Amino acid sequence: MSNFLPNELLEKLKLQEGFDVDAFKAVHQVGERITSIRLNPKKITEPSYSNVSPVPWCEWGYYLSERPVFTVDPLYHAGCYYVQEASSMFIAHILKEIGLVNSPVRALDLCAAPGGKTTLLSSYLHHDSLLVANEVIKARVNILQDNVTRWGEPIAVVTNNDPSAFAKLPGYFDLTLVDAPCSGSGMFRKDEGAVDEWSQANVNLCSDRQKRILAESVVCLKEGGYLFYSTCSYSEQENEDILDWLISEYGFQTVQVNINPHWGVEESISKQHSAFGYRFYPHKVKGEGFFIGVLKKKSAQHTFERRKTKPEKSAISNEELAQWVSVPQDLTTFLHGEDVHIFPKLYTDDLKWLQNVLYIREAGINIGRWTGRELIPSHDLALSFYINTGINKVELSLETALKYLRKEALMTTEFQAARKGWCLVQYKGVNLGWVKVLGNRINNYYPKSGRIMHL
Ligand code: SAM
Repeated sequence: MSNFLPNELLEKLKLQEGFDVDAFKAVHQVGERITSIRLNPKKITEPSYSNVSPVPWCEWGYYLSERPVFTVDPLYHAGCYYVQEASSMFIAHILKEIGLVNSPVRALDLCAAPGGKTTLLSSYLHHDSLLVANEVIKARVNILQDNVTRWGEPIAVVTNNDPSAFAKLPGYFDLTLVDAPCSGSGMFRKDEGAVDEWSQANVNLCSDRQKRILAESVVCLKEGGYLFYSTCSYSEQENEDILDWLISEYGFQTVQVNINPHWGVEESISKQHSAFGYRFYPHKVKGEGFFIGVLKKKSAQHTFERRKTKPEKSAISNEELAQWVSVPQDLTTFLHGEDVHIFPKLYTDDLKWLQNVLYIREAGINIGRWTGRELIPSHDLALSFYINTGINKVELSLETALKYLRKEALMTTEFQAARKGWCLVQYKGVNLGWVKVLGNRINNYYPKSGRIMHL
């Protein structure tokens, strides 16, 4: 059997008890492309594709029988689903198993771009939670922000900071997910080219970087809080060894997660502290290579003084706000430039504490521009769960929905039933964005930056 996998990696994997190296090589040889999506249950509850099969560890995850052209599906642009590799959806199972979905938490997704796991967390965490999604690389924050906005979840704050900045929030988070940058061997089947980048030297480098990211940020997790540590690497040095190191250095305890033996997920046990890890191998599961371990912080953790802040004057009147959003009483508003943002009232003080130490890219939802007289609603508001459901709306055919997404001129004939003024356009009952219905024309307000080009 010809083999493109690095021998050095295979030799290490062979040391694992019962590891079937031939099956592992064969599955890479065949190179099957697996496509999976995870639904946004607040927008749709059934996949719009046929011939789907469920991802066993995530009730909103589905395998598609073939890879469609997602850009021609309006529901994709509306944030009805995220195209996500199936193994990483296992986080949904862990959240439920350890009861993190039952009550509000403050959660941090430290290495968040492009946002796959952020959108998963935001669907699964209790709706009164706060989720900080951070990405250190500035050029990758846009895609993270776009995905969070499209998902429509109001609980997220997107930040752009080095992990060390989070040390300034000691004992603050109940949950930290560190989906660390890694040597990427778990992606070899999907991306054969990634093999060229792989070397044992890079594994060593990644392992050092992973330790640095964790060492600099671990203090922000409260005592009793959970750390989820994951990679898409098969190397023990980046996985089990990191769990051992965290236990030795920072007083963590391992957490075992129940798994269904039929899933093919392998439970691994670290050498030094017998910490549990969960390994996904493509010859055993329908998904790519992935590793995750769950730790609970047992050591005492000091925290910071949480000063109450003075309530600020609302950016717009309650009447104006109630026209646009569904639960104005639960929201606070603030102005960022001319843009009005809404944010859960529950976390008004938290936002100040975060602002004091982090560079915040976006908090809550930008609902539009305030002209001094009226609100020009934003695209972000159209995609958000907080939008007032009584707003003027029109259902579009697939053809017109695609025209809308290409930002083309729309015919007035499709809007005859709509009142004049701001109007939401929908496809299959899901908001796509805004138009303005005028006497003799329709103005298309789909953002230029999101316009679909090659259809
Ligand atoms: N969690 C993401 C998702 O599910 O969509 C994928 C995250 S990816 C595995 C790792 C992320 O870590 C990348 O976005 C990368 O930019 C970021 N990263 C790279 N170097 C980093 C560093 N030194 N500190 C923190 N994050 C880093």
